[in-house]
Amino acid sequence: MPLESAEGLILRLHDFSESSRVVTLYTREFGKMRALAKGGKRLRSPFESALDLLTHARIVLVRKTGGSLHLLTEAVQATRFGGLRDNLEGIHGGFLVAELLGDWTEENDPHPRLLDEALATLARLSAGTLSGEAARAAVARFESVLLWELGYRPELERCVGCTRKALAGPLAFGFGHGGILCPVCRRDQRGWRELSDKAWKAALELTRQAAGEESGDGPLAACDGDTRRQVARWLGEYLGWIRGRRPRLMGWQET
Ligand SMILES: [Zn+2]
Repeated sequence: MPLESAEGLILRLHDFSESSRVVTLYTREFGKMRALAKGGKRLRSPFESALDLLTHARIVLVRKTGGSLHLLTEAVQATRFGGLRDNLEGIHGGFLVAELLGDWTEENDPHPRLLDEALATLARLSAGTLSGEAARAAVARFESVLLWELGYRPELERCVGCTRKALAGPLAFGFGHGGILCPVCRRDQRGWRELSDKAWKAALELTRQAAGEESGDGPLAACDGDTRRQVARWLGEYLGWIRGRRPRLMGWQET
């Protein structure tokens, strides 16, 4: 079997035997994958210090077929987001990004933009000066890109029932419908959440940014606390609807 090179972010590490570990990574080339790192628990191993959570690594591997674990033969640290460990907000945000990449994506379904966006988010989160609000806003931006890349782009510009564009409040987002439901169309419907006018506008801006390639902290960084929390709850519920459970670490973002 040929050796292949890849780069990715380390999402999870599990002990496999006395000396080996199973590594879950999100790679640019192959999307999410699980690989066995033989000798990965030894101090002197071909992986040096690269096998650490939320480390961006360049790897060499042998890909296996038929659902067996791939074999990791080398790993070198490309970026270590050292500042993450120094602030609680940063580490919470980083673990939420890892949870979403680990549980909301499929194996063999690469989305290079998701890796780029995750790395950019971790870089922002590891800046020691970031406030808790800015950290939550940065992760919300990642979540909106995740929705976009996975094909769950929310329709926020028109009612998904009657397609009317002239939206007047109170507006609500229907999770199963994937978009805004006007007061008439949501009669007799279940599974929706009301959004304030400000939260709707912020969500719309967030989605527009996710559609483009512009970088930045995301529009929530400039919102008042109540609006930011409403949008975070909406994102959490929508992600929860997609996967059948809410992200475990979402509570952090909704405070
Ligand atoms: Zn309608």
